Amino acid sequence: MNTYDLLVVGSANADLVVGVDRRPAAGETVLGSDLVVHPGGKGANQAVAAARLGARTALLARVGDDGHGRLLRDSMESAGVDTSGVLVGGAPTGVALITVDPSGDNSIVVSPGANGRLTPDDVRAAGGLFAGAKVVSVMLEIPLESVAEVARSVADGARLVLNPSPPAPLPDEVLAACDPLIVNEHEARVVLGAEPDGEPEDWARDLLALGPRSVVITLGSEGALVADASGARRVASVRVKAVDTTGAGDAFTAALAWRLGTGESLADAAAYAARVGAAAVTKEGAQASYPTADEVASL
Ligand code: ATP
Repeated sequence: MNTYDLLVVGSANADLVVGVDRRPAAGETVLGSDLVVHPGGKGANQAVAAARLGARTALLARVGDDGHGRLLRDSMESAGVDTSGVLVGGAPTGVALITVDPSGDNSIVVSPGANGRLTPDDVRAAGGLFAGAKVVSVMLEIPLESVAEVARSVADGARLVLNPSPPAPLPDEVLAACDPLIVNEHEARVVLGAEPDGEPEDWARDLLALGPRSVVITLGSEGALVADASGARRVASVRVKAVDTTGAGDAFTAALAWRLGTGESLADAAAYAARVGAAAVTKEGAQASYPTADEVASL
């Protein structure tokens, strides 16, 4: 009996957002709007997205012993995420300092803080979470050696989903454990170490040659492509009026990971995830835009 449909291992950040008329140049000070603080970070986003869909979800992450850490725990608990694996201390909670101008362009500085202190020992100590999880989802906003330990910790019969964001070259043992590796075009370029050639089908073939058992390429409003040893298939997107695409990739990944754990095929899970990603772009924000299963059904 699995305790969790999905274990997410990753980052939790407070997003500190200020609107400005013009983003400051070097040495310049500008006045901005009142500060707005949103819960964010790719790990927390994925955990909230999955829990909101109804998945039994746990998060393994690290936050600081501070107000931002408490904000993140509260937002995750109210979405129904099991936060028993959210460790506290070692550094301040990670923050993203975001300035946004009226055209919607932004400048972002991320201070990883406690995310950078989620160690391989922390991963090993969370063996109980791994033992009870059907699917484990991880991303790269935590140290790469901890990601490698996650890959080693996935229980027999469970599967690992990796979105390498922010992108970095990946060790072979991590690549070999991915089922699937989920990338957008930019991430594909970094993982391949070269400009992808040809069509997404060609990138998928090149990515599969690096060792993952399956690959998913997200293509924004064009949907996605799934590929494994049996071949590649396009997954259509759902036509919606896009308001804010922030966090759509995290919602897509969380939904895909959850549905794979229910036994769906990669193509069916990706089709469901495309509906979740489409729903997420119809509302402002990241976590605030994530749909319930009923909202996905009525899309
Ligand atoms: P992020 O910027 O959050 O890291 P990403 O680049 O990893 O995102 P996207 O490809 O932008 O991921 O979005 C993930 C999925 O969400 C897409 O594969 C698609 O199914 C859906 N999606 C994204 N944007 C749109 C859109 N404008 N209309 C419909 N569906 C969309």
